[in-house]
Amino acid sequence: MAEAKAEPKKKQKVPGEVKCSYCDGTGKHQDQTCVVCGGSGKVEVVDMTQKCQWCKGRGYLMKGIPCTVCGGTGFTRPVSKQRLF
Ligand SMILES: [Zn+2]
Ligand SMILES: [Zn+2]
Repeated sequence: MAEAKAEPKKKQKVPGEVKCSYCDGTGKHQDQTCVVCGGSGKVEVVDMTQKCQWCKGRGYLMKGIPCTVCGGTGFTRPVSKQRLF
């Protein structure tokens, strides 16, 4: 008889589309197309339940410089790695 072992639950990644934190969903940043979302205002991330701990979900560390950890999404990494800086 196989007994159900109490395994530590792994956190499930939840990929999804989130509002771009860097441009706050506007698709524009300082009158230019947002480099993070490419102007769509949304970005697909690997895990939308996890905010970036580095930038605290803001998408940037200093004004004008997208967070290099999350690629400016404010969450985890963007699904498309081409958008990582
Ligand atoms: Zn954006
Ligand atoms: Zn970040």
